Amino acid sequence: MINRIFCLIASICLVLLMFNGCSNSSENSENKRTSTDPYSSTVYAMDTVMELTVYGNEDILEKSEDLIYELESKFSVTDTESDIYNINHNSGGAVSPDTDELLKLALTLCERSEGALDISIYPVVQAWGFTSGENRIPSEAELEELLRLVDYRAVSVDENNNVTLAPGMEIDLGSVAKGYTGNRLVELLSENGVTNAVLNLGGNVHVIGSKPNGEAWKVAVTDPSGEGYAGMLKVVDKAVITSGGYERFFEQDGVRYHHIIDPTTGYPANNDFLSVTVIGSNGAVCDALSTALFVMGPDRATEFWKKSDDFEAIFITSEGISITEGLEGVFSPLGNYQNEKVTVLYRD
Ligand code: ADP
Ligand code: MG
Repeated sequence: MINRIFCLIASICLVLLMFNGCSNSSENSENKRTSTDPYSSTVYAMDTVMELTVYGNEDILEKSEDLIYELESKFSVTDTESDIYNINHNSGGAVSPDTDELLKLALTLCERSEGALDISIYPVVQAWGFTSGENRIPSEAELEELLRLVDYRAVSVDENNNVTLAPGMEIDLGSVAKGYTGNRLVELLSENGVTNAVLNLGGNVHVIGSKPNGEAWKVAVTDPSGEGYAGMLKVVDKAVITSGGYERFFEQDGVRYHHIIDPTTGYPANNDFLSVTVIGSNGAVCDALSTALFVMGPDRATEFWKKSDDFEAIFITSEGISITEGLEGVFSPLGNYQNEKVTVLYRD
């Protein structure tokens, strides 16, 4: 719980760092439509704090909030009315077009990551208590039994939005839902004429356009040690999404167990990564890949990036920071990393 609160505070601080204070929406009500006035709202959804800041269109905030709640009510694993709850408790069933779209996209990313991302890992995540907050270390035998149920290839979706799961299987779109929600918000805002916005969905940041003065947005990357920021990125029209073992974890007998599970072992991914940040145009893809690359570990993740052309990445390990070549001149280290060398990864 304390970690969760810390995480929420950290994500709010991240927004503060970006804006250095933005004015209250009610103060600006007289000049409602000037494109340089920021309007903000805070939403508690998808188990996190979301901060939406939109320039020049106050009215769209309410529609944005409604969209977040609507998507949450479909994707939630715990809401007994949700699509996901329904299919998890009936080994399948019909889902809404939104769930259908996200599920199909998530399955392509499970495939693309060769199972490092596996949305059917949910029974294992539950066994570790990451959904209930009652954390425990499952026995080897229990994990072995649960892993038999884990295989995204046994999830099928037909052309009528009907999902079929293998008996006992349960899925969780938690690794991609915030990124997908960010995409949908960007779409909604853009359709409504918004050209400058920052959406911080619990540390998943989506920016529309640049700052109203034409400068790139500055997005901070959290220091995985929990102290401040490891760096800052200048971005325009991008999603910046981080997965890290520091985000949600518990400790027992001096060992830390975090919430990102390696589907081959059933244990929290255990490699040199402290965090992985993925930057790209498609938030759902970046969200899925930040989780998947974190599971893969540095070597496999680097090879995976080399074969891809739709994202850049920041890898933080105990050795320091590596960035992919597209981030040269875009990323600057901060805090504990300020005087450390940043390694640049090249494709050849
Ligand atoms: P967060 O939601 O904390 O920002 P992620 O996007 O990395 O972090 O997603 C982590 C969540 O995804 C976990 O809380 C768990 O529900 C689920 N999960 C954990 N391991 C995997 C995995 N290998 N593949 C798919 N989902 C996973
Ligand atoms: Mg993710």
